[in-house]
Amino acid sequence: MAEECLFCKIWAKEAPAKEVHRGDDVLAFEDIRPVAPVHILVIPKDHIPTIKDLKPEQAPLLLRMIDLANQVARDRGISRDGYRLVINQGPQAGQSVYHLHLHVLGGRAMHWPPG
Ligand code: AMP
Ligand code: ZN
Repeated sequence: MAEECLFCKIWAKEAPAKEVHRGDDVLAFEDIRPVAPVHILVIPKDHIPTIKDLKPEQAPLLLRMIDLANQVARDRGISRDGYRLVINQGPQAGQSVYHLHLHVLGGRAMHWPPG
């Protein structure tokens, strides 16, 4: 756990979050500033700052994050219409929290190219 990391604190329940699903090493919770009718974040327990820091041996963890994202989409009823999974990497992409997270966005049409 990284001392000053918000998402580590959410994992440890030291910061509040509306949890959607808690697994052994992955957690889904509501984004505090949703930009779509469904906007849920999926994080790993481990403090991995960005997707660039993910090691090859952590590939199964990424798969578990994607599995949970797909499950959340099914549970929220957006699976058939479609949804978007986003990982922002670095300032130009708009990453603001440096603990790896997957955005699950859905419930409305998504634009392409993204802004
Ligand atoms: P990113 O900009 O890709 O790093 O995404 C970070 C996301 O975390 C943003 O969509 C924020 O709205 C969200 N966020 C920031 N603080 C919290 C919090 N305390 N609880 C839930 N989501 C948060
Ligand atoms: Zn962290």
